[in-house]
Amino acid sequence: MIYLDNAATTRVSAEVFEAMKPYFCEQYANPSAIYSFAGSAAKAVDEARRQSAALIGAQPNEIYFTAGGSESDNWAVKAAAEASAAKGKHLITSVIEHHAVLHTFEYLEKHGFEVTYLPVDEDGIVKLDALEAAIRKDTTLISVMAANNEIGTIQPLKEIGALAKKNGILFHTDAVQAYGHIPLDVDALNIDLMSVSGHKFHGPKGIGFLYIRKGVRLGAFIHGGAQERARRAGTHNTPGIVGLGTAAALAAAQMKENIEKETKLRDYLIKRVLEEIPYSRLNGHRVNRLPNNANFCFRFIEGESLLILLDQKGICASSGSACTSGSLDPSHVLLAIGLPHEIAHGSLRLTLSEETTQEEIDVTVEAIKNIVERLRAMSPLYEDFVKAQKQD
Ligand SMILES: *Cc1c(COP(=O)(O)O)cnc(C)c1O
Repeated sequence: MIYLDNAATTRVSAEVFEAMKPYFCEQYANPSAIYSFAGSAAKAVDEARRQSAALIGAQPNEIYFTAGGSESDNWAVKAAAEASAAKGKHLITSVIEHHAVLHTFEYLEKHGFEVTYLPVDEDGIVKLDALEAAIRKDTTLISVMAANNEIGTIQPLKEIGALAKKNGILFHTDAVQAYGHIPLDVDALNIDLMSVSGHKFHGPKGIGFLYIRKGVRLGAFIHGGAQERARRAGTHNTPGIVGLGTAAALAAAQMKENIEKETKLRDYLIKRVLEEIPYSRLNGHRVNRLPNNANFCFRFIEGESLLILLDQKGICASSGSACTSGSLDPSHVLLAIGLPHEIAHGSLRLTLSEETTQEEIDVTVEAIKNIVERLRAMSPLYEDFVKAQKQD
């Protein structure tokens, strides 16, 4: 099997799994308990909080563990909107956000808030002049993702953060695809709220955190016990939290090396596909993109058919986000960068990990070449296209 869907989820690394193990059957105490048996679990949660914070230049007490990226996004956006409602009810986000953010804003629109959805350019980068023009006196929140999960484009966070700060507006970023993969610093980027998920960087599923800058007023999302400074109730998921912290520490230690390795392999993949497969295009910014992301469109090809035939060769890939597959709608991200429906349908996302080898990329490129050729041979549209070209 060749696994090239690391944007959907990653393998839990062996070190992470080993670090989690003791907290299931041995050190299973509730970390909030008073007796000394709980001491080891409580210490492990503290250590994971420190590790999670260190990667983004945050303080440990600014990390609030949640059940993952979707929860962190829901909490940040809803609670930030609510906390500032007396000041204003205008919110800003982008058209290419993950559905955990987009659907939360749609919910808020039904509950009295007004939302501006910023357009993006043909590479998927938020237009800063549009952002500046959208800011009003009653704007209270800007939410723009750090890096896009489909096309990998990295957003100009520093410029967005500076605009937010200048205007006294909270800045939230969904950093689920970026955290652990590229350097992020909450102070340098003026980030107030940041969503992170463990399973996108070799941690376990069902755990994540919301970074909340010290001094930012934000209500609780899960009401109940006093865990997480009474802002996120529920008994701590000790094994998950330890796994997240360990994955963060490993990512910190290996980031430079991983970025170099993945970027080289990604660029090799992009070069081969664009050179060897006619009528193919790269989606997303050529340079300002995640080191592990490549996203292509192949004209006259259905993304679904491509995925099924790749699967028959043992290759796991995606045609966009895991959330849109299964539906017939083309990706909202590909439409937002200006692709017409028929081209957006023929997309393929390949997301690497530091474990991906050049041999795997070679096998994958050959497979795509063969499949695209076969599918085009059966396409009446392609036949017409070739005929028209000959006549020219
Ligand atoms: C995966 C993902 C999420 C959702 O995270 P979960 O932990 O799976 O809930 C949110 N935003 C982005 C950009 C993602 O890639």
